[in-house]
Amino acid sequence: MKIQRYIVGLYGANCYIVSDEESNEAIIIDLGEATDEIENYIDNNNLKVKYILLTHGHFDHIAGVEELRKLTQTKVAISKEDAPMLLNPALNLSEMVYKKVVCSPADILLKDGDTLTFGKHSVEVIHTPGHTKGGVCFKIDKVCFTGDTLFRGSIGRYDFPGGDFSTLMDSIKNKLLVLKDDITIYPGHGDSSTIGKEKRLNMFLRDLMK
Ligand SMILES: [Zn+2]
Repeated sequence: MKIQRYIVGLYGANCYIVSDEESNEAIIIDLGEATDEIENYIDNNNLKVKYILLTHGHFDHIAGVEELRKLTQTKVAISKEDAPMLLNPALNLSEMVYKKVVCSPADILLKDGDTLTFGKHSVEVIHTPGHTKGGVCFKIDKVCFTGDTLFRGSIGRYDFPGGDFSTLMDSIKNKLLVLKDDITIYPGHGDSSTIGKEKRLNMFLRDLMK
């Protein structure tokens, strides 16, 4: 499995292209902008993008979806709670700070415990509300894509509509910190880390560790 990261858009959101090297099947996790670099990477590596998986519905993670959807005929998946954000610039927060982002409806509505496959890999959907109501993380083998729920050294904001501090902390504690310490996390912004490192070093999780 190969993971390629691109940092895109106004807010430097991570877009991950995860591919299975045998079958060339791939998924994209969050797509804040469909840059030439991303499109070239898909082309040059002959990737068949099976799904665009969205950790949540904020515009900085979804603004590139429509462009790439047209090019690759891929299916777009988001949690059922965040699905309305694809359609509504007020809900995806683009209205205030950016050009209005409006996507077509999702092809697949995700819920906790769902699994999707690409190549020989399976993607487990973990519902982690708190940043948004329908925030999800995607666990694949020994890695977990944590969206704006858990960052290296920080946690997601909980002051946007649908966000809630204690819900976010419960999600991190009960859904993410229960993963093995050697699981690598790939957040929605910033660099990767591991569950073990975050348990030891993330100041925001100190109270959860008592
Ligand atoms: Zn967000």
